[in-house]
Amino acid sequence: MPPIYGKPTADKYDYVVIGGGSGGSGTARRAASYGKKVAVVEVTNALGGTCVNVGCVPKKIMWHAADLQDRISEHAPGYKFTGVENAKFNWKEFKPQRDAYIRRLNSIYANNFDREGVEHHQGYGKLLSKNEIEVTRPDGEKYVLKADNICIAVGGTPSIPSDEQIPGASLGIDSDGFFDLEDQPKRVVIVGAGYIAVEFAGIFNALGSETHLLIRHDYVLRTFDPTLQETLTPWLEHTGVDLHKQTHVTRVEGEKGGPLTVHTDKGDKIETDVLLWAIGRHALTKGMQLEEQGIKLDKKGDVVVDEYQNSTVPGITAIGDVQGKWLLTPVAIAAGRRLSNRLFGPEKFKNDKLSYEDIPSVVFSHPPIGTVGLTEPEARKKYGDDAIKIYKSSFRSLYFSQVEEEHKEPTVFKLVCAGPEERVVGVHLIGAGSDEMLQGFAVAVKMGARKQDLDDTVAIHPTSAEELVTMR
Ligand code: FAD
Ligand code: NDP
Repeated sequence: MPPIYGKPTADKYDYVVIGGGSGGSGTARRAASYGKKVAVVEVTNALGGTCVNVGCVPKKIMWHAADLQDRISEHAPGYKFTGVENAKFNWKEFKPQRDAYIRRLNSIYANNFDREGVEHHQGYGKLLSKNEIEVTRPDGEKYVLKADNICIAVGGTPSIPSDEQIPGASLGIDSDGFFDLEDQPKRVVIVGAGYIAVEFAGIFNALGSETHLLIRHDYVLRTFDPTLQETLTPWLEHTGVDLHKQTHVTRVEGEKGGPLTVHTDKGDKIETDVLLWAIGRHALTKGMQLEEQGIKLDKKGDVVVDEYQNSTVPGITAIGDVQGKWLLTPVAIAAGRRLSNRLFGPEKFKNDKLSYEDIPSVVFSHPPIGTVGLTEPEARKKYGDDAIKIYKSSFRSLYFSQVEEEHKEPTVFKLVCAGPEERVVGVHLIGAGSDEMLQGFAVAVKMGARKQDLDDTVAIHPTSAEELVTMR
């Protein structure tokens, strides 16, 4: 897509948002809906940010491809489908199709801006003062936008160890590079134990790449409820992911884009086509002159905000990944919309803000994970052991009754309940369908549901979800 050369159309804007991703788009459009003069400064010409371009959307499409592969080659034979044994995913043909879909989404974002009166200024945004943003266009030209309110929504970028820390580390790629892969690597080494490492390992493994996952401890997803960690970690190994526990990369040898040798502190030398770092992300605040204007950053570079998304400088707010809490698209959008409600909306919204409690989230692993509320250890710490009651159910879903034993995925559901009323303070699900199941139960947790409320709800049969209202 060609670059978009903008220029100021007002002496002063009501609102300038730096970053046209999930949060930036959400807050800008909501502000414009209140009749405000709004501009978004976005360094790329592809609106939608991480989620649309190199995150949730293309990732979920790849997850669907991997899920289909499992169903075709591992489940369909059990259902006595024949002729499916040699079904093979064609990455090379699929990628352009996936990319074309993303370009369509970029256009939809751009059209929404046009329709709703949000100006897109393509360029790098930097703070010159509390009311001025310098925009550096792709052609190098600079101009200044003045605004009464500025929102920082620049998101983050993947972290990679430096070559000083790990010689050869830069020979690896990150999650952005995953989406650039033109063809499926035969062998891949992924480093990390969080969302991205687990999701990408699942995708590669299901699609048939030799997949090594290097983790520093014994379990993946260590910040999640232990039941989820203890179910998914062995299942990854069972399904063929070569899990290297308690392992650190010490050195990487090879040529950029060519085969690599990954050396570990265990003395292993793993030959691979791709090394992928998935060890977390950091905010893109460097170079924006935020601290020079008095905006406090924490030691990771995230913008420090209060519960209303205010930075330490009046009139300047921050939303989404750049504020370091709950790096999820719907969180960025919800915080952004509520911020605009508060700043520009009617009186009833004057105190609007996002509650960061009980945020549901899904890991698109194989099988998927859904989780909301407190983990069991968090609940025990908060309420005390005596106040906690755990309900847990482990089973194989009916779907797998016809599938060969080794491909029967586990399902484990857990409810963490607190106090004499047995309020449901945590719901942790792993198993087929958990991704779609969680949303409704997240509503229940948010509303303060008790275990009795779940018991009082009639089950839907035959489903896996019915286990959640029939646990004893
Ligand atoms: P972003 O969407 O990153 O947008 C920031 C924008 O600011 C970018 O477009 C960037 O180009 C622009 N920018 C940066 N600096 C400047 C500057 N100085 N001037 C102008 N523009 C600038 N979340 C989910 O909820 N579900 C998922 O399944 C999921 N999957 C993910 C998978 C991957 C691989 C990754 C990496 C993330 C995933 N996420 C997921 C997280 C989600 O993508 C982010 O939480 C979300 O995009 C954050 O939105 P944001 O608006 O804060 O930042
Ligand atoms: P995460 O923070 O989820 O996980 C990174 C993990 O990598 C850490 O928990 C840590 O695990 C491990 N790690 C950290 N540093 C190192 C290191 N130096 N060497 C080896 N391992 C290391 O980050 P991700 O990059 O996976 O994802 C970033 C964020 O994006 C997520 O937190 C999530 O908010 C969002 N996201 C959401 C998705 C979704 O909603 N489905 C999907 C993808 C991303 P340990 O301490 O156990 O070693």
